[in-house]
Amino acid sequence: MAAAVAGGLAVWLSGCGSISTQQQALVDTAMGTIVSQTLYVQQEAGQKTEKEEQSETASIMRILTELEQQELSWRIADSEVGRINAQVMRNAGEEPNYDWVGKEPEREQNSGRIPREVLISVSISPPQYELLSRIWQVSEDSGGAMDVTLGRLSRLWNLDELAVLTENGSIGTTMADGERGQGEVAGDGVEKINFPTAEQIQAALADCGYRRVQLSDGMITLPAGMQLDLGAVGKGIACDRISAYLHSQPQITGAVVAVGGSVVTYGQKPDGSPWKVAIMHPREEGGYLGVLSLEGEHYISTSGDYERYVMADGVRYHHIFDPATGYPAHSGLCSVTIVCDSGLLADALSTACFVLGPEQGLALAQVYGAEALLVEEDGGLHMTKGMEGMYKTYGNLP
Ligand code: ADP
Ligand code: MG
Repeated sequence: MAAAVAGGLAVWLSGCGSISTQQQALVDTAMGTIVSQTLYVQQEAGQKTEKEEQSETASIMRILTELEQQELSWRIADSEVGRINAQVMRNAGEEPNYDWVGKEPEREQNSGRIPREVLISVSISPPQYELLSRIWQVSEDSGGAMDVTLGRLSRLWNLDELAVLTENGSIGTTMADGERGQGEVAGDGVEKINFPTAEQIQAALADCGYRRVQLSDGMITLPAGMQLDLGAVGKGIACDRISAYLHSQPQITGAVVAVGGSVVTYGQKPDGSPWKVAIMHPREEGGYLGVLSLEGEHYISTSGDYERYVMADGVRYHHIFDPATGYPAHSGLCSVTIVCDSGLLADALSTACFVLGPEQGLALAQVYGAEALLVEEDGGLHMTKGMEGMYKTYGNLP
């Protein structure tokens, strides 16, 4: 998904004295993805220096960096999630390791030292507790299709890194007996790839499962060996934080901000036209499938099998897993877009619906009163009623 940004325009005159509406636009990176912002900010003409004129977009970038570093990233030792994961590992007799790419040897050496039934309790901050409780509710409601306890599995597959290494490329040889999901880089590209074995996948799955986690009295209690991965909800949570900031700044009259595949729209454009949010084409790189027209505040999230993937022997290995099998989900869908009134929910539901497939996915969206657009690999489209009024296809279907 990409926010359609009106190009070129610098200043909208609001018509009242010296107050004008400035457009601030910024494309930058945070949380491992591209952040694209367009803000409309009212200010008195000539009152601000050029640096001050970009201060709102800069504040949003700071909010995202703080969210990642202090709360969500499993790669950062003193983020809330990093702290939970590290405590579990230490209690399980493992050394916390934040450089997981393609390796997890300590675990194998130490396996068996602490039985998985051992439970570890970690106290968490009230906001984090609230956040995790809401995430757990979506896991419940989706029958476990969205499950942030898949950390061991996602690191075992390592598909996010592999997709970057191969630039979403094709790999000739699949080494099914490989030690871990890692590519071997030779020259400019990756020559072969070692996907995890069925045995390794089962071992990782044995460390996963939201049902084995307890949230009570400000504590999270999880089994030894489990690792959290909030990748499926992080960008949506980011949109909620951006929204809170936008609401606190009366001079901002309208905004559209995309954090990777999660977008928030807010307020109005100076010319009163609706926000346009383009949906990426799942099979034509750089192309668009269609566009959403939205008035006011909405949260939009797209999950697809085309963002981070590796093709091997004609099979698409992508980064959304079916917790029931431990393999990339093949539900017949290639893209799911959710529109609702919460960033966290939009992101969580887009992942859950992707795993569930068209019928159950549509039903889950309806439980939450969310609008959904589900695209099948063979070109079929499914939409909720409300989505029909927002969405217009303009590309070819897959
Ligand atoms: P994106 O990161 O492209 O926005 P998603 O929101 O669908 O895509 O999240 C995918 C990420 O979530 C993966 O990179 C992985 O870390 C994690 N993940 C994969 N499958 C699941 C799942 N079934 N439930 C929860 N998290 C998942
Ligand atoms: Mg998601």
